[in-house]
Amino acid sequence: TSSSTEKEVQKSTFTTEQNPVIEAKVDSLLALMTLEEKIGQMNQYNGFWNVTGPSPKEGDAAKKFEHLRKGWVGSMLNVRGVKDVRAVQKIAVEETRLGIPLIIGFDVIHGYETMSPIPLAESASWDLEAIKNSARIAAKEAAAAGINWTFAPMVDISRDARWGRVMEGAGEDPFLGSKIAVARVNGFQGDDLSKYNTIAACAKHFAGYGFAESGRDYNTVDVGTSTLHNIIFPPFIAAKNAGVRTFMNAFNELNGIPATTHRELQRDILKQDWGFDGFIVSDWGSIKETINHGLSKDGKTAAELAINAGSDMDMESYLYVAHLAELVKEGKVKEAYIDDAARRILRVKFELGLFEDPYKYCNEAREKEVIGSKENHEVVLDIAKKSIVLLKNENNLLPLPKQGKKIAVIGALAADKNSPLGSWRIAAKDNTAISVLEGLENYKGNTVTYAKGADVSLGATTFVNEVKINKDDTSGFAEAISVAKKNDVVIMVLGEVGFQSGEARSRANLGLPGVQQQLLEEVYKVNKNIVLVLNNGRPLTITWADEHIPAIVEAWHLGSQSGNAIAQVLYGDYNPSGKLPMSFPRSVGQSPLYYNYKNTGRPSSDGPDIVFWSHYSDEKNTPLYAFGYGLSYTTFQYDDVNVKMISANAKEPIVEVSVNLTNTGTMAGKEVVQLYIRDHFASITRPVKELKGFEMVSLAPGEQKTIRFKLTTEQLGFYDNTGNYMIEPGMFSVFVGGSSDTTKEANFELN
Ligand code: BGC
Repeated sequence: TSSSTEKEVQKSTFTTEQNPVIEAKVDSLLALMTLEEKIGQMNQYNGFWNVTGPSPKEGDAAKKFEHLRKGWVGSMLNVRGVKDVRAVQKIAVEETRLGIPLIIGFDVIHGYETMSPIPLAESASWDLEAIKNSARIAAKEAAAAGINWTFAPMVDISRDARWGRVMEGAGEDPFLGSKIAVARVNGFQGDDLSKYNTIAACAKHFAGYGFAESGRDYNTVDVGTSTLHNIIFPPFIAAKNAGVRTFMNAFNELNGIPATTHRELQRDILKQDWGFDGFIVSDWGSIKETINHGLSKDGKTAAELAINAGSDMDMESYLYVAHLAELVKEGKVKEAYIDDAARRILRVKFELGLFEDPYKYCNEAREKEVIGSKENHEVVLDIAKKSIVLLKNENNLLPLPKQGKKIAVIGALAADKNSPLGSWRIAAKDNTAISVLEGLENYKGNTVTYAKGADVSLGATTFVNEVKINKDDTSGFAEAISVAKKNDVVIMVLGEVGFQSGEARSRANLGLPGVQQQLLEEVYKVNKNIVLVLNNGRPLTITWADEHIPAIVEAWHLGSQSGNAIAQVLYGDYNPSGKLPMSFPRSVGQSPLYYNYKNTGRPSSDGPDIVFWSHYSDEKNTPLYAFGYGLSYTTFQYDDVNVKMISANAKEPIVEVSVNLTNTGTMAGKEVVQLYIRDHFASITRPVKELKGFEMVSLAPGEQKTIRFKLTTEQLGFYDNTGNYMIEPGMFSVFVGGSSDTTKEANFELN
């Protein structure tokens, strides 16, 4: 009924504290707008044409230009650089009837031109301040290039390393994912969205995209309510509460309904229950894709279902602009929904200050000064070092001595200046990362001899083309083996090329791609002093390496300063402190693999010699490296996990947990102290462990500190199957340590 629509729209529009001045401005502007102009605000076009060149005469681009002039375009993406942004903005502001400025979107995923580590790597730092700073400088650069809206952060939780987009997220855990989501939103949006150097952020992809079946991108998602509420939603809620101004929906269907036309998800849960008052943009062409999903019989139906489900802006489906006006006239779409969508979009434009000065992001001098600045490179170097995870270090092979060693460096990735930039680096200049070889040049006390060994991929790899892996060219092996023989230590840089992870980059095999495993084994035969440096965008099944190679360094795709960060860690100028944000499987067949699993009715560990366990007959259940795992050049000891009950009342619990941490090694170091809980018996089964707190602690050799955590309602409850948050009395355990597989435990009870 129309009265329920009003209530719904009212509620969704006015649940959070709003700026009355802005609301009044939106109201008066809306009152001036025709239906077509309102729909225009809901239309977003890709700026693929040369916007500063001569106007295109025909085809799609000509049509887009014409629509822009009519005031039928509210936003553009992939227009960048002050000159181009100014050109399109000028049309919107000077040539349309109402002069409403465009909001300019761009995928600023891990940096604009100066690249930070890929988001998964950054998440391994567990350093919220460094992550925020990284997003902050990405926003500054993007804003200086005319952009005022990023399609980030991706807050999709994923447990499946086969899914290529794990590189874009914060890993498998909802608690860590929520904290990182907030850090990123705060970094992009700053403390005041109306400043010239802050941009609107976007929590994506709502929802469930990270749960694509078999890790195959875009695939069907079928998850139960418990997973939805306890695992998938929390980072979105955290982003919303941090004030993220936009959400993006998703390509996938969720339990039978494409996310883009999922009314319950968007209108009921996000807008109504959570009170989100920004706007939802569709994913690229995702409104149109609902036809392919087998839901919408044609474009017009797709537009109808998408707007009725609460999708406010159409990215590149061309369907809102084509059909919404007619659908309103036919009574199939309520005009209140159009008003609501336009209102949300205009609200964000006002908040960005675009009406006061539509060209505030367009300043050539600033563009020159800010993009690629020394300061920005310092920030990305800082987070790059913090993102590295030391996976293995037998006999203290690392850090390397700075003098008198002969070092062999092997692997195409060691010389690669492109791969470290990772996927999603549209504005980065190709081949601008510091390679490992370049990073090592800063240390002159040792000799370095390089041999490629083998290519990872054949030919240049790009954002849109399939990566062609070198599957059989071993012609460089002989040289690599001879170099390895003549040197004291071999640094092997192996893994994935930059575009081997990211969108549409799912993999069914998670080993070292191509002939790299073979190369590693051949080199090992002649020199066992190998430091394996991994460059990759996802967990890899490096089981053989773990069994044989003495030192393993997870260095991901670390961005512009990659080689410098890696060299500083290899030589001990930075003591590694990263911890894995995703479990590393032993075999791909274990996927999806995650630390916060649930027990079955059967014991799931390695059992005695009978088969009725929850297990694989050919693989362990445990990961190769657990979530939260990561070594340091020093060692840490955990003692005395203590629990103090301030209030044992399940209605208002307060539990204090303390632990003593000692640096028992010989180097100063940082440790991420992690706290997990287990709720032993509940009305809905609970995971064996859930991260509920962490703290970064720096300790000098021999130094000891007591670390304290406080557990309250926020940490001790869970969502039931209708989305209600609750805490139940009963027995709990807390586990504290430097990894999710810690067994340092204490118990308490709530009543
Ligand atoms: C991706 C989004 C991205 C959009 C715009 C889509 O293919 O799924 O994450 O923001 O393209 O580039």
